[in-house]
Amino acid sequence: MYPAEDEYPNLCNHNNHMANCLTLDMYERLKSAVTPNGFTIDECIQTGVDNPGHPFIMTVGCVAGDEESYETFAELFDPVIEARHNGYLKTDLHKTDLDPTHIQGGDNLDPKYVLSTRVRTGRSIRGFCLPPHCSRAERREVERIACSALDDLTGDLKGRYYSLDDMSNEDQEKLIADHFLFDKPVSPLLLSSRMARDWPDARGIWHNSDKNFLVWVNEEDHLRVISMQKGGNMKEVFTRWSEGLSEIEQNIQANGHEFMWNEHLGFILTCPSNLGTGVRAGVHLKIPLVSRHPQFETLLKKLRLQKRGTGGVDTAATGGTYDISNADRLGFSEVELVQMVIDGVELLIQCEKKLERRESVDSIIANQAQK
Ligand code: ADP
Ligand code: MG
Repeated sequence: MYPAEDEYPNLCNHNNHMANCLTLDMYERLKSAVTPNGFTIDECIQTGVDNPGHPFIMTVGCVAGDEESYETFAELFDPVIEARHNGYLKTDLHKTDLDPTHIQGGDNLDPKYVLSTRVRTGRSIRGFCLPPHCSRAERREVERIACSALDDLTGDLKGRYYSLDDMSNEDQEKLIADHFLFDKPVSPLLLSSRMARDWPDARGIWHNSDKNFLVWVNEEDHLRVISMQKGGNMKEVFTRWSEGLSEIEQNIQANGHEFMWNEHLGFILTCPSNLGTGVRAGVHLKIPLVSRHPQFETLLKKLRLQKRGTGGVDTAATGGTYDISNADRLGFSEVELVQMVIDGVELLIQCEKKLERRESVDSIIANQAQK
């Protein structure tokens, strides 16, 4: 057994939340800790050690291997969660509101600018290790539980499961290009956190026949539940998502299982950035002018929004079209987060139109209060 300072990773040139929080003292205390399923601090932080920073987003730098990780390594996770989630304290309680009737507007965001709309969340099935740490058998069991719950969906949500094992390369590429399916595990963030082990075993995508309600199985989370469609009707997308999610939960429970959840962290997911609601509500937004404005980043921050490229988290934007979504997941309800996106996107469109008319948006940006 080597002393902790000999094992402590070199984090000097790192910029992620884990690296900013993990001191040698803390590492020394956590080094001997292990969750009931055998997950260690070194497995927890490996992704943040191997990936010092990310060009487009501030990453978290650590993952959970099971539900208990958040307690066993609370000394690290608590400050990471506080930093990532806007000062969310370990004494804070999370709130949920999945009722679409509480949303104001959002049913006609201008389709000239809003190319497509999407809402996703993750869910984990209690009693099974999370993707960075699960065994093959556990992963396959999660797939079985998911498929059995999804098979029972009815009406507009009726669909079928496509296992990656059985899918041709062309079908897979097509689904990825159409933004329906997760990418193959090329992202170093996925690889270093060991979520891509045994790829593509027990991974797949389920979708309804309209391809507007989709569930990813065993990617970064046990389940990713997604509602999406072309154009700017966020209310409709959220309504379908919320109804589908609640049916899936009922079916999972009818089969004797439940989602990982607690009052403080909300829904428990692999990446601490997704705790709480797990919701990322977003649009592909064509804003070539606002996005070039020097105050664009400031405005997004004030609106509590995040930008990505349209190919997903690891991609840069092309042609002035961005994936604009809520930056927060925890401490706000699902409805509050979706409302932030609706209101923020409307403001961005208003700015884009002003810039098209060669009018200034400086005062709009300056007067926009920090949400
Ligand atoms: P997630 O947060 O769901 O993991 P990623 O950034 O990894 O999102 O992207 C996953 C896929 O979803 C990518 O193919 C991305 O292009 C697609 N996607 C995300 N938002 C939208 C949207 N509003 N419209 C269409 N596709 C989207
Ligand atoms: Mg992703």
